[in-house]
Amino acid sequence: MLVGLIGHPVAHSKSPQMQHAAFTHIGLSDWRYELWDTPPEALPARMRELGEREDIAGCNVTIPHKQVVMPYLDEVSPHARAIGAVNTLFKRGRALLGDNTDWIGFLADLAFHGVDVHAGTQALVLGAGGSARAVVYALVSRGARVWMHNRTPARAQHLLDDLARSPYAREAREHCAVVASPLDPACRAVNLIVNCTPVGMWPHEDNSPWPDRTPFPAGVTLYDLVYKPRRTKLMRQAEAAGARAIGGIGMLAEQGAAAFERWTGVPAARVSAIMREAIQDA
Ligand code: NAP
Repeated sequence: MLVGLIGHPVAHSKSPQMQHAAFTHIGLSDWRYELWDTPPEALPARMRELGEREDIAGCNVTIPHKQVVMPYLDEVSPHARAIGAVNTLFKRGRALLGDNTDWIGFLADLAFHGVDVHAGTQALVLGAGGSARAVVYALVSRGARVWMHNRTPARAQHLLDDLARSPYAREAREHCAVVASPLDPACRAVNLIVNCTPVGMWPHEDNSPWPDRTPFPAGVTLYDLVYKPRRTKLMRQAEAAGARAIGGIGMLAEQGAAAFERWTGVPAARVSAIMREAIQDA
């Protein structure tokens, strides 16, 4: 069977190494993960091919198609609808379904690191793009309170308004708010900070979304979705202030394991460790 990645560009992806490690581990020797570079004008033909070919079990979806593929699908999971983006397509019979595994990967990696998200969690989310949508949804689904800080505040407000309209994340209306600064007094008691901006990502590793000399709340855990470099400037700042810092590579592995489960029926828990190892090596 074949699975793959549709997006544009896709050449940089480490998903083939990660998924092949899982196929080998489970003994699925006739499964292959391919990179299917799909510029926007080629998307309709790609979607037709995905639906028609019986040797294709599904695919991952990345930029710029995470939203525009939705109308091509027979069904979109309630989670992906609430988030407003799909990153995994899979088949049930002849139907092509869409789901979002980023929010699952985020929660699974926090759990892996012993961080439980619950009604007592107070989180500050930096950024309001695609990944922030999945992260805020994940946090709200566990009853956490969320403050969002974004360079463009209106975009953060738009994200919260969208979430609050979804029947699956109505709590967003009472549980989330936009703040103009991470130093807003409302954020004083946050115990989790999540970076959903690309600031600090290779090759701009000297940058950080956290202004120098801005204190971190006491006892906070910092989660940086950026995974290249493995240890970002933001993580170093947090650790220097006595905070715990976790990088985004585990989320990458866990979202891949959740996609693997949808394609093969093999539980994500059986492959997540092997996928973590493979992505570290890659
Ligand atoms: P995105 O949709 O492009 O959103 C980026 C967000 O960051 C926007 O809110 C943007 O603010 C903000 N931003 C960008 N440059 C900034 C700057 N110089 N200063 C302040 N804010 C800035 O990106 P995304 O898909 O959410 O991805 C964000 C990061 O997460 C990337 O590094 C990506 O690789 C990583 N990621 C990791 C995983 C994982 O599994 N670990 C999964 C998904 C994404 P404006 O709204 O003002 O433009």
